[in-house]
Amino acid sequence: MQYLSSEQMTELREILLQMRKKLVKYAEEQIKDPSDVTFEGGDEIDRASIETGRYLSLQRIRTRELKLLRKIDYALMKMDHGTYGICESCGAIIPFERLKARPVTTMCINCKEAEEEVENE
Ligand SMILES: [Zn+2]
Repeated sequence: MQYLSSEQMTELREILLQMRKKLVKYAEEQIKDPSDVTFEGGDEIDRASIETGRYLSLQRIRTRELKLLRKIDYALMKMDHGTYGICESCGAIIPFERLKARPVTTMCINCKEAEEEVENE
């Protein structure tokens, strides 16, 4: 199996940067725009629980997105260090097609599957 060519690396970097841009934009919209919450004359208790629920769901969105954002930054950092596309578990080269489908992956398919089997036990 061959290591990534510079063209493939450039393509993957583009994908990661696009993902990052979309993610940041989406997260900003979620945080900025409170317009989807309307109060139909509910009392204070209802209002408080709606606000709490909304706050919690925002927190969840942000946690999930921050996690992905961190993975993207990690992948970009690895590209700069020349270690991108190498399995962190066994050191094998991760095929381009797998990286293209999942650019933030840090493991080859064999190691990933082994890890998932362990998790399911
Ligand atoms: Zn591996």
